[in-house]
Amino acid sequence: MLAIKRVGLLVSERGYATASTFRAADTIVKKTERGNPKPDPNKLVFGATYSDHMLTIKHTNKAGWGKPVIEPLTDLKIHPGAKVLHYATELFEGMKAYRGDDGKIRLFRPDLNMKRMLSTAERSVLPTFDGNELLECIKKLVQVDAEWVPRSKSSTLYIRPTLIGTEPTLGVAAPSESLLFVVTGPVGPYFPTGFKPVSLLADTFHCRAFPGGMGAFKAGSNYGPTIYVNKLAQEQGCQQVLWLYGEKRYITEVGTMNVFMCIKNKKGGVELVTPPLNGLILPGVTRQSIIDLGRTWKDITVSERDITIDELLEAQQDNRLLEMFGAGTAAIVCPVERIVYEGKSYDLATMDKGAPITSRFHDEIVDIQFGRKPSKWTVDVA
Ligand SMILES: *Cc1c(COP(=O)(O)O)cnc(C)c1O
Repeated sequence: MLAIKRVGLLVSERGYATASTFRAADTIVKKTERGNPKPDPNKLVFGATYSDHMLTIKHTNKAGWGKPVIEPLTDLKIHPGAKVLHYATELFEGMKAYRGDDGKIRLFRPDLNMKRMLSTAERSVLPTFDGNELLECIKKLVQVDAEWVPRSKSSTLYIRPTLIGTEPTLGVAAPSESLLFVVTGPVGPYFPTGFKPVSLLADTFHCRAFPGGMGAFKAGSNYGPTIYVNKLAQEQGCQQVLWLYGEKRYITEVGTMNVFMCIKNKKGGVELVTPPLNGLILPGVTRQSIIDLGRTWKDITVSERDITIDELLEAQQDNRLLEMFGAGTAAIVCPVERIVYEGKSYDLATMDKGAPITSRFHDEIVDIQFGRKPSKWTVDVA
């Protein structure tokens, strides 16, 4: 369907290094005299608690990148004319640091976050940099706030790299001044008491992304407009939106997660289907990891292919839709139990047998993240 051709490769697809970058070795560290008390790890609200320090790196077209600075977390001071405040010249990443049972702190496939951040920077005409250098800076930040990485089998340290255009002029243009910053904070498990499946409104009017748009990039401007649609979903008793696209109503994503469907095909085999990276889909690290793991399993085949809501509901009606789940860093996997579409509610079989495929992906990924199973996907921080 949506064959999208783009002229020219983004820098991030050609490789990491750019001519202009900051260097992690130049990082200036100013530690706080008195850290904040650590919160009760059982009462963490996502994104509400921050660690003591943040990383900031300034860029101007004139001077290039400045030195990375790790300093106590503080408010930003930006001019009210800063482009980010008017035209959403902003991008972000979401990743986590995990403290293993062995006490070691690890990151999970952070190279993929750096790659995605660079591709979004280039698409947003924000300054690019060497992804390896930012990764080293992030490791230093996590080391400085190592005490904020929960000692827990399920809580983690969420890491939010962000890049904004700060030039205080109101023309719609590339900013000549920008700020890269990284804040972190402890977060609890998405499902503290076992899987809680969600129900979805398959909205037929709104869309999250479109060919040639920004759907494949983690730009802040993609997310604000979804809050309204999520509110409509909640008014219909659903927790999240199943994002469809086009007249054929292709399934694209769930809320802010990628989507997977386990379908028994007519020959009795199990196919794990996820939409392909066609420009409408955010290239999730969790998505890629599920695809990579799934391809090593003998009992399923993984397909990156288009799938419409009609095909999904036909499989559901034939009892061939075994499981459906969202996938993203926050939840890892999130089972789906119900879809509301054109005024009708469809119950899915996902939890009937305890979602064994969804659970297996969850457990394999968690074992790697917490260092229980050695893997090339983890990067040691400390
Ligand atoms: C961040 C995000 C995902 C998940 O990406 P991960 O790298 O797995 O966390 C999926 N869809 C959207 C729209 C996202 O913003």
